[in-house]
Amino acid sequence: MTTLHHYNDQIVLTEVDFPDYLVRGAVLFGREAVVVWDTLTHPDDMQSLLPLLNDRRLIVVYSHADWDHVWGTAALQRPGLAVVGHRLCRRRFDADVPATLRQRRHDEPGRWDAVRLVPPDQVFDAPTTVLDLGGLTLELSPLPGHTPDSIVGLIPEHRLLLMGDTVETPLPCVPAECRLNRWQDELQRWLIDPRVATVIPAHGPWGGKEIIRRTLDYLEDLQAGRSGPDLNDLNPFYRRTHADNLNNCTPAQNPASTPHPSPAP
Ligand SMILES: [Zn+2]
Repeated sequence: MTTLHHYNDQIVLTEVDFPDYLVRGAVLFGREAVVVWDTLTHPDDMQSLLPLLNDRRLIVVYSHADWDHVWGTAALQRPGLAVVGHRLCRRRFDADVPATLRQRRHDEPGRWDAVRLVPPDQVFDAPTTVLDLGGLTLELSPLPGHTPDSIVGLIPEHRLLLMGDTVETPLPCVPAECRLNRWQDELQRWLIDPRVATVIPAHGPWGGKEIIRRTLDYLEDLQAGRSGPDLNDLNPFYRRTHADNLNNCTPAQNPASTPHPSPAP
């Protein structure tokens, strides 16, 4: 069951709760178009949104192609629907996205039958792409790290940054062969960007820029081989994720990683 939080008269946050973590998306209401930022885990997750959507142009934007962000799109399919994602997000729909769905259908028969994969039909690769929704703007920028196809979305009118899985409290998921330096550089850039006041991640609490700072601190500890968070403060899910991150970031498995230079004062 999806909970809707009315952030203001143009933005609604969508949240689905699982025992170990929650998944959050957003809906942006412009005068001419409505954006659904991530369709969450299942078409059922989008049902409570349907009464809010009118005949304005509907655009789905994927923060990245992980299953918990893209499996609900079937509920929104209608003529004229545009689906926007990074070029590498589109590519994943030919690779790991269907493979994950096959695996989950095998593991949990019946539960995922309603999921239909809807790949992006409008891809971008440029440093920034801007969607004009009418009185509301969404600026999309790549922020690879958690996955190569991860993007963030800035809404300058509300000084709000949708960050998907690029930041997460208590800690993000860091894959093997991740380009930690690029991830940290982009987070540093957003940390000092005066256009941002509110940070909305897909998992963990939302808030201010301290959320970016916390993820940066975690990534720096990881890269420097420092012990990181107190395991007693983590639930079993995040304890497992932290152990995986440590494993993924050992020098032998991440030879490209070099100590990150201190940010300019
Ligand atoms: Zn996620």
